[in-house]
Amino acid sequence: MRPDESWMDQAACRGRSPELFYANEEVLLRAALRVCSSCRVRRECLDYAFAYGLEDGVWGGRTERERRRMLRAMRRSA
Ligand code: SF4
Repeated sequence: MRPDESWMDQAACRGRSPELFYANEEVLLRAALRVCSSCRVRRECLDYAFAYGLEDGVWGGRTERERRRMLRAMRRSA
C-alpha cells in the first residue's frame, strides 16, 4: 500500500530547496525551522517521518536530534 502523501500538497516547504532541510549548518537549519513554523501540515509531516523511519533532515518542524529524543521518550513510555 502506498503511503498517504496528499498532505504534502499543503507543505510550506513545497518548491523550496531540499538542501535547506538536510543542512548541517546551524543558520540553514534555523531557516528550515522558520519555514516549518508556518506549515499547516507539521503534524502529518512528523507522523510520516516516524512511520517511515526517516532519520535524516527536518521533518514536522523537528530536527534529527529532536526526533531521536522524542522517539526515545515514546519508547520509554510505551
Ligand atoms: S513541517 Fe516543515 S518539513 Fe514538514 S512539510 Fe511542513 S515545512 Fe515541510
